[in-house]
Amino acid sequence: MNNQDLLNIASEFGSPVYVYDSEKITSQYKRLTTAFKNVEHLRLHYAVKALSNLSILKLLNTLGSCLDTVSIQEVMLGIQAGVEPSKIIYTPNGVSFEELEKAISLGVQINIDNLVILEQFGTKHPEIPVCIRINPHVMAGGNTNISVGHIDSKFGISIHQLPHVLRIVENTKMNINGVHMHTGSDILDIDVFLYAAEILFEVAQNFKDLEFLDFGSGFKVPYHDNDIQTDVEELGEKLSKRFNEFCKSYGRTLTLAFEPGKFLVSEAGFFLVKVNVIKQTTSTVFAQVDSGFNHLIRPMLYGSKHEIYNVSHPDRKKRFYSVVGYICETDTFANNKMISEITEGDILAFRNAGAYCQTMASNYNSRYRPAEVLWHNGQAHLIRKRETFEDLLKNQVVLEF
Ligand SMILES: *Cc1c(COP(=O)(O)O)cnc(C)c1O
Repeated sequence: MNNQDLLNIASEFGSPVYVYDSEKITSQYKRLTTAFKNVEHLRLHYAVKALSNLSILKLLNTLGSCLDTVSIQEVMLGIQAGVEPSKIIYTPNGVSFEELEKAISLGVQINIDNLVILEQFGTKHPEIPVCIRINPHVMAGGNTNISVGHIDSKFGISIHQLPHVLRIVENTKMNINGVHMHTGSDILDIDVFLYAAEILFEVAQNFKDLEFLDFGSGFKVPYHDNDIQTDVEELGEKLSKRFNEFCKSYGRTLTLAFEPGKFLVSEAGFFLVKVNVIKQTTSTVFAQVDSGFNHLIRPMLYGSKHEIYNVSHPDRKKRFYSVVGYICETDTFANNKMISEITEGDILAFRNAGAYCQTMASNYNSRYRPAEVLWHNGQAHLIRKRETFEDLLKNQVVLEF
């Protein structure tokens, strides 16, 4: 997919628009499976919350991917996309017991991260195997917004509560078939990750009927040239070796599971916007685009630095810009960004727009959510229509006065 392809997509489907390259998703999937080729049973559960479009879920299903879901609606989307319920793991946090019951009826693998729920579940459904999500209290990344393994995290059952877990399992005779952790979003230091894995192995020894160990996710992808990223090949080599040793001592070949979201789809995505106006102030040059944090909130929410480039004129001399949106809110995508000189009407592309962009989009300022396009086998396919005014009205109940 080259710049001309992106420009054609922007003119055919309008802007703003999210574009995904299926080839990149496929190659990332293969890269991860290759890194873990020495593990006999590997399962990749794609994290639906990163990008939940049905066509993307179907594509991943054809690659052999399983799904990781965090809400009953994501479970339903997965099933709608044709994914076998047995290939879906459901890892909710803070949901009602009714929602868990619904997940049981749909036949998905349930992952429990709360002692009270575990006790209730074991009492009511001792025959249904469940996975437990533990919190190993390891800080994987530096940003506390995205590290979920630390002591104050709301996620997981603390490893210090293991005796209580074992008491519940013994009292209810429930069956624990998996142990899970998801420590945070950025695995930069593989040794830190392996340290957390050791904790998981230790916990796992307490359960006799395990089928899988789920190491969650946290693969860091590059946001610009020379950016740091998780060395999945090194991780694959080291963790596979430890995992295989563990299986030997455990006495059974277990499945090694991961739940990559960002890793599979982030780099496959481009968000195309059009520059409405160039506004020069006393201190900066603003490029104002036809979007805002209603369509891509990550820079404002997490401080993510998305690469932004001028697709219409990639070869002009570069200038410094503040790229901002058009909504009535401070919606700064980037400050002091070197971009090749912009003319009003140019199309800019945000990189790494495959994960947590469309799925976090809203209608703030009553703007429409953009269309989504999948670039597949050299062709652009519309996979979600741009919203229309009808969508804004759809669920409103209008009172007459
Ligand atoms: C969000 C999430 C993931 C995916 O995280 P990425 O950083 O996108 O890879 C995996 N597992 C669970 C339980 C999650 O909540």
